[in-house]
Amino acid sequence: MSEKMTLTSIITLVASLALILLGFIFVIAAFSPGKIYRLAIGVPMVTVGGVLIYRLLQPKPKILTVTLKWDPSGKIVAEELKCPYCGAPLPPPQPGMEYLKCPYCGKTIKVLEEPIW
Ligand SMILES: [Zn+2]
Repeated sequence: MSEKMTLTSIITLVASLALILLGFIFVIAAFSPGKIYRLAIGVPMVTVGGVLIYRLLQPKPKILTVTLKWDPSGKIVAEELKCPYCGAPLPPPQPGMEYLKCPYCGKTIKVLEEPIW
């Protein structure tokens, strides 16, 4: 799967870079006589920008999806319920449940409900 940059992540990246740049200017400006308080503005700005970029560059955990099929009586079709990671049987999720945790391998699985009626 190729990971394309979303518009949100591009905006976040630009905003963080601007934050770092601005904060850096404040840090430099803090070296003017009597302007040391500017460090208290510049340092948090650079830190926040850095954290944002760091989080942006972190690989997102891949979450596999299981599709549930519900029959008209509201029962889950049982054979759909297998962990996509290890193949272990999964406990039946409650209606409206969005995520399941595999009791065998502990991975998080996204539940996609697909009513068949
Ligand atoms: Zn599993």
